[in-house]
Amino acid sequence: MGKIYILDVTNRDGVQTANLGLSKLEKTMLNIYLNEMGVFQSEFGFPTTKHETNYLMANLELAEMGVLQPIRLEGWIRATAADVETAFMRVPKLKHLNVSISTSEQMIQGKFLGRKAKDDITQMMVEAVDAARSHGTESIGVNAEDASRTDLEYLIKFASQAKLHGADRLRYCDTLGYDNPFTIYETVNALAKEVPMPIELHCHSDLGMAVANSIAGAKAAIDAGQDAYINTTVNGIGERAGNADLVATVLAITKSKGLSDKYHLGRPIDLSKAWKIAKFASYAFGVPIPINQPGVGANAFAHASGIHADGVLKDPQNYELYSYAELGRGEPEFVETGSQICAGQYSGISGFRHIMGQMEVEFKDAAEAEKILELVRYANVASQTPLVEDELLFIANYPDIARKLLTLAPLSQPSSS
Ligand SMILES: [Zn+2]
Repeated sequence: MGKIYILDVTNRDGVQTANLGLSKLEKTMLNIYLNEMGVFQSEFGFPTTKHETNYLMANLELAEMGVLQPIRLEGWIRATAADVETAFMRVPKLKHLNVSISTSEQMIQGKFLGRKAKDDITQMMVEAVDAARSHGTESIGVNAEDASRTDLEYLIKFASQAKLHGADRLRYCDTLGYDNPFTIYETVNALAKEVPMPIELHCHSDLGMAVANSIAGAKAAIDAGQDAYINTTVNGIGERAGNADLVATVLAITKSKGLSDKYHLGRPIDLSKAWKIAKFASYAFGVPIPINQPGVGANAFAHASGIHADGVLKDPQNYELYSYAELGRGEPEFVETGSQICAGQYSGISGFRHIMGQMEVEFKDAAEAEKILELVRYANVASQTPLVEDELLFIANYPDIARKLLTLAPLSQPSSS
């Protein structure tokens, strides 16, 4: 029986959201936290985008060093042979790719304005897959953008060509959040039966159903004998109304009625890291966690009414489906209300040594402390918010990697292509 794998896309869909963004260090921290949680794959960025190059290379280096293991790091590009070539020119050590192209009549007419027909779309995708294969890509996902508005007959043809040319998965993109659990089940089940290959579910929340649709789509793929890969983002941050929230999706798979006993994760997720990753993403994006967010919202375990409070005091299971401790909550959090020394872009050595000393980090000499401080200053320029402890520790532990993450040098790179 097929399994469900979590493929997080915060570092691609999340960061391309209007009004939001992350520094390269923050993206790296998310990859580290996702890896700690047991997430199967992180869609870690855009290999054809110049300012991503150093970040992507540095993260692949962390993978080689064993720091980002066993998580798979996969890059997202458009499905053209030219983009594949650019991706491997910039990031030669890429191992996993998703190539994306619009498949719906609406998009083909509305974006390509009659210059492309369905056969051209299939051809572009096939050429991209062939090019990716020729570079020895270990896994290739093919994304059917706007799959939920694509006629099934064409979707089947598109998927079968992807499979024929060696794609490992088809990403069913409900790009506009148009599906509901009933329609996505029907379509994905038919697709996976016609073209036996693993299916990725990429769902958006424009109608508030991203998690429900992801679960229904995953069930459909597994019922058809295939593995399912659900695309999530931390705190559901993504284009417009967002994507399937990572924590809510894992809770739904592992706790919901009639599902948790039959459909299983291919790699266990350590939910005790949920609180930490949700808090970090909220801080890094500058977006508060909604009070009613499943699992990690301030009210997720709060009870006020007489009947509920009395019930929880007698037995939490009366009104709580899962415990706060499972999500890594319940530890007291230290909030400084007195004098505070922060690391910033204009910090000096004395304050910095004080901060690092509180975390029991000692430097071998003044030169080393100054070197790390310089990196911390640059990291603050990029994030414009004080770094969290884990970021400071990361820079102290991996200064060479940090330097690469912080290097953005548009003028020193080739201006062509
Ligand atoms: Zn998306």
